[in-house]
Amino acid sequence: MCGIVAYVGDQNACPIIIKGLKRLEYRGYDSAGICIGKDDSLNIVKKAGKVSELEEVLNVSDNIGTIGIGHTRWATHGEPNELNAHPHSSGDGTISLIHNGIIENYDSIKKALISKGHVFKSDTDTEVLVHLIEEIKKHDGIELFEAIRLALNEVIGAYAIAVMQKGVNDQIIVARKGSPLVIGIGRGEFFVASDATPIVEYTRDVVYLEDGEIGVINKHKDLDIRTIANVSKSPYIHELELSLDAIEKGGFDHFMLKEIYEQPKSILDTLRGR
Ligand code: GLU
Repeated sequence: MCGIVAYVGDQNACPIIIKGLKRLEYRGYDSAGICIGKDDSLNIVKKAGKVSELEEVLNVSDNIGTIGIGHTRWATHGEPNELNAHPHSSGDGTISLIHNGIIENYDSIKKALISKGHVFKSDTDTEVLVHLIEEIKKHDGIELFEAIRLALNEVIGAYAIAVMQKGVNDQIIVARKGSPLVIGIGRGEFFVASDATPIVEYTRDVVYLEDGEIGVINKHKDLDIRTIANVSKSPYIHELELSLDAIEKGGFDHFMLKEIYEQPKSILDTLRGR
């Protein structure tokens, strides 16, 4: 299970997301991708390989927008290639989704969706989820939140997801079960990540989403958290204690080297007071 970074606010989202994905590189991954929302478009760029390779193919002037989602993938379903990299889109291209985890019952859902005319571009379990959301949203004429909630009720497996919708440039919807997800609260802006390392330099106020919760994140509004049974929850805001120094390489070439040199201090910290 790999990395998620998302942003909605008033800043340019692309550099925040790319920097965040780099902070998550220590988790290992095989490909990376980003979706930036602007006006009535969702601009998706994906690349097999490193985040720096994604950065090289990103056209920065095409990617100015104040909302976006980014992902580093560790393939579980489908080859580690550009097509299977996240974000994945609905058939009509109006919904974009990133996912950490595994949708165990993707095969039966995929077959049912194919029989309804859905065409899949990738071999991933993730693409099945975004098409399922689209199908529910289309047939019932319902809002994105409700479509996600109903889709997640059909899904078996583990997930942390972040979803955005074409033309809706102030809202990201996130959810988790089994895979971690943290929401950082800034001033009228929100940062989302699969762990706190991409968030710590922007805000210390975070909400750890719990299993079975969906977060509706609207810029300049309060965070709205509900369960997949649609019960409203009050967000519990934690203060991050993680320091930026602790997550950076501190001048060393590799994290492993940094950890080796940190051993005396780590041992001292462990034994302190004993
Ligand atoms: N199961 C998904 C895939 O293979 C997500 C993998 C991940 O957590 O990075 O695309």
